[in-house]
Amino acid sequence: MKNIRMINPPVYSGSTVLFDSYQDLLAISDGSYDGITYGTDRLPTQREFEQKLCALEGGFLTRAFPSGISAIVNTLMALTSSGDHILVVENVYGPTAQFCSRILAKYNVEFEVIPGNVGEDIENYIKANTRLIFLEAPGSNTFEIQDIEQVAAIAGSKGICTILDNTWATPLFLDPFNYGVDIVIQSVTKYISGHSDVLLGTVTTNEEYSKQVEAFYTTMELFAPSQDCYLALRGLHTLGVRLRQHERSALRLGEWLASHPLVDRVLHPALEEHPQHALWKKYFSGSSGLFGFTLKDDYSEEKVSLFLDKLKLFGIGFSWGGFKSLVTIGEYDRPFSKMIAGKKVIRLHVGLEDVDALQNDLEDGLKVFKNSFVKSESKARELRTV
Ligand SMILES: *Cc1c(COP(=O)(O)O)cnc(C)c1O
Repeated sequence: MKNIRMINPPVYSGSTVLFDSYQDLLAISDGSYDGITYGTDRLPTQREFEQKLCALEGGFLTRAFPSGISAIVNTLMALTSSGDHILVVENVYGPTAQFCSRILAKYNVEFEVIPGNVGEDIENYIKANTRLIFLEAPGSNTFEIQDIEQVAAIAGSKGICTILDNTWATPLFLDPFNYGVDIVIQSVTKYISGHSDVLLGTVTTNEEYSKQVEAFYTTMELFAPSQDCYLALRGLHTLGVRLRQHERSALRLGEWLASHPLVDRVLHPALEEHPQHALWKKYFSGSSGLFGFTLKDDYSEEKVSLFLDKLKLFGIGFSWGGFKSLVTIGEYDRPFSKMIAGKKVIRLHVGLEDVDALQNDLEDGLKVFKNSFVKSESKARELRTV
């Protein structure tokens, strides 16, 4: 029978791999075996995903992890030792900062926060024992952007590693290696998988840091589930068209919100009013579907809750990057950036639904804030049931 040639690769999963002979076992012992030895040894589905993503990132080595945060914490562990000092942007993904303050601190790694728009001033924070600088552009929830090339150049000249969490832009809209970054992280959970049905992360390194990351990965016997790598591979094929659609719709809604009478600021780096818009233009070739906005007035929790409950297309939920539009609200206390101090940031993930319908949904929701007659709790409750 002729060999079957499926357009998609098979999913390999499991633990035991059979060897041909005792000679294979001997070869494993002396390090000369050229094959996959066990389920934790990166099965072919995982390897194929890593290779494809590595090519897209223009990196030297990619390793897949069971989630984005797993990719982050393991990279930080791989690169630090007791007595090191690390610099992390203030607008980093929350759990990344928590790992630094709660876990790395236990191992005597000192963690210091730097501005979300840091550039040349990185000099002021570097110490003799600074080991790495962790960037995220734009940063989580407040969307400030760092001067990536400046930071990486100054860090590189002192032998300090620069890591960038590139989840927002993906390799399609930002190429950090081109600006001197050493290690790029993706929460594949977001745009690359694209359907909110996968948790996966990746670390891609340049040649310089590849050995260190690879050795840590192998020793820790880290691996990523094959089924999730398969879905991520599938996501890669449609990433470009999905991102362009997220971009278009988010820009439409961002521009509309910017001129809305109730809205104070729109936190979207591709809009001119964004304080680091020039940096965005310099480094990014597109924008994605996640941005925030603040309102001019402070509203009671009751009104905010009415607004959220009113939305039909924007689901209330964590994570983003999938087909469905999502909303979250939070207040973010940044040591440096005071742009949104004391304000609630409404964060939208603009999904792949019809953009007119999304705009109508937001318009309906925002009407809750216009209805100044909605004062009492009972009235609020009444409205909620409508
Ligand atoms: C979601 C997210 C992560 C973590 O990814 P998970 O796969 O959910 O663990 C890391 N960085 C950024 C910027 C994220 O948005």
